[in-house]
Amino acid sequence: MLDPFKRRINYLRISVTDRCNLRCRYCMPESGIKLISHDKILSFEEIRDFVQVGVNLGINKIRLTGGEPLVRKDIVRLVEMLAAIPGIKDLGMTTNGILLDRYAENLASAGLDRVNISLDSLDEGNFRYITRVGKLESVLMGIKAAKKAGLEPIKINCVVKNSSLDQNALAVREFGRNNAIQVRFIREMNLESGVYSIVKGGDGGKCHICNRLRLTSDGYLKPCLFSEVGYNIREYGYEEAYNLAVGNKPEKGSLNNVNNFYNIGG
Ligand code: SAM
Repeated sequence: MLDPFKRRINYLRISVTDRCNLRCRYCMPESGIKLISHDKILSFEEIRDFVQVGVNLGINKIRLTGGEPLVRKDIVRLVEMLAAIPGIKDLGMTTNGILLDRYAENLASAGLDRVNISLDSLDEGNFRYITRVGKLESVLMGIKAAKKAGLEPIKINCVVKNSSLDQNALAVREFGRNNAIQVRFIREMNLESGVYSIVKGGDGGKCHICNRLRLTSDGYLKPCLFSEVGYNIREYGYEEAYNLAVGNKPEKGSLNNVNNFYNIGG
């Protein structure tokens, strides 16, 4: 699929839930969020069929995200269902890693290729402060488990407030170096005011090479993180939703007042 700016669209990010087991300050309010009701959330069968249609149209890279994908019930079964679709070259997941120790082995057996893990600080106190509820040790155990299970190459996403030279970021960089894990630094963004920047070490924020579409857990296909445009796949039908999202992918991001990171997947 080519969009109007001749970008080849082959990457679909799927937010499988809006729920999360952390409350990162830059992502979610402490009190939690107004949750999407279960009947609106796409079923695994709907996700699989939507992906199958996408693969027929040229999608070959899939990333499961959230919310926190590992809190979606039976997530391993979804991985298995997607891994069984011929034509997907890269099946990944972005996770906060808290539950990875429990799931890594099963995810790998189900056919997940690799994981990106979010980690903003290696200081227990700072980590707790940023996530409000998280235990650093759980993520570190998750990273170990992911390595052991072969979910590689593992990449770490580190959100920085100001720069990748912040104290937390420097420690995460060092951790990456010592453990042969690539670290990407993401400047804290704001959807509402359209503040975004390129991801250091990754492709995010480089609009001219953007190859992504995003599916929300309640079934909206979105052509851009920083855009309010979205097509309900149940309403339009799967193929038409792809055509509309690709055909209306903006040249570059602007702002987004209808989504949040926790429901569009970061
Ligand atoms: N729960 C999973 C996780 O933590 O990786 C997946 C969903 S999370 C929304 C995906 C990514 O978005 C994470 O790496 C997170 O740090 C990032 N993110 C969330 N809010 C952000 C913000 N305001 N600015 C930049 N990145 C953000």
